[in-house]
Amino acid sequence: MASDELEGRSSGTQGMNLQRLYCKPFYKCGLPTEQIVEVQEHYVYKDRRNKKNKVLTYNIIATLPGTDDKLKEEYVVVGGHYDSVNNKLDKIHNGADDNASGTSMILELFEKFAVSNTHKRTLVFMAFGGEELGLLGSKHFVNNPTIDLQKVQLMVNLDMVGRLDNEKNLQLGGTLTAVDFDKKLEPFLDEVENRWQNNLNITELGKGIFKRSDHYSFYLKDIPVLFFFTGLHEDYHGPTDDSNKINYQGMKVISDLVHPIMEEFANTPEKLIFQPVELEEQSMPTATMKVTLG
Ligand SMILES: [Zn+2]
Repeated sequence: MASDELEGRSSGTQGMNLQRLYCKPFYKCGLPTEQIVEVQEHYVYKDRRNKKNKVLTYNIIATLPGTDDKLKEEYVVVGGHYDSVNNKLDKIHNGADDNASGTSMILELFEKFAVSNTHKRTLVFMAFGGEELGLLGSKHFVNNPTIDLQKVQLMVNLDMVGRLDNEKNLQLGGTLTAVDFDKKLEPFLDEVENRWQNNLNITELGKGIFKRSDHYSFYLKDIPVLFFFTGLHEDYHGPTDDSNKINYQGMKVISDLVHPIMEEFANTPEKLIFQPVELEEQSMPTATMKVTLG
């Protein structure tokens, strides 16, 4: 996904079209599990300020219907953007961390859930286009939803989950966007914080909401959200955000945390009750950013 062949997957490029091929587990997981795949096309301006250079982009949406007669009318969504920033100075911005990492984790989770097929609520997996142009894919989806948004239990956003550092710092946003949500998440976070060798260092972003990723579009529709993020780094939005810098073992640890959380909220009979958080914007979490000058 982050090879030069895909040119950074930004909106309107040929590489963006190749991206569809990389979502093939959505189409052919080789399992008898019922699945529905839709491609939602929409147009965006690559030059936002001057409303010029209109190009086609799309969201890829895969659905695994729930197994419970009643709860299958409700949804747990997991999503992340696949596009990278526009290439600059003839250098390809591969966006391995931002956000081939989140997109590939979504494909992996899809396969896992398609195999077990025990989720009571319906699961929806989304790869958004146009995020780097202003969350355009997720905005388009929430304004043209293919499901009843009032029945979405939870939206999980995976954006930059590929750079778990040596201290295993993982940032988690949205834990206050539902009543008692933080308490309900505690057993899962405790478990992974204490697990031998996998002891993650989780920072809950707490008050406020981080507005610059796709969960924010869902939050604005009164949907509880969770946002997983391994932090900023010096390659962020640059041509050196490459696949050789990804911590693949770290991605597995994170995926092994996201999976049971999704499972819990897909199966628990209780519905999460949305609650708004303080309106001030969280600044980009910078705990692990190394600042360089020049
Ligand atoms: Zn991103």
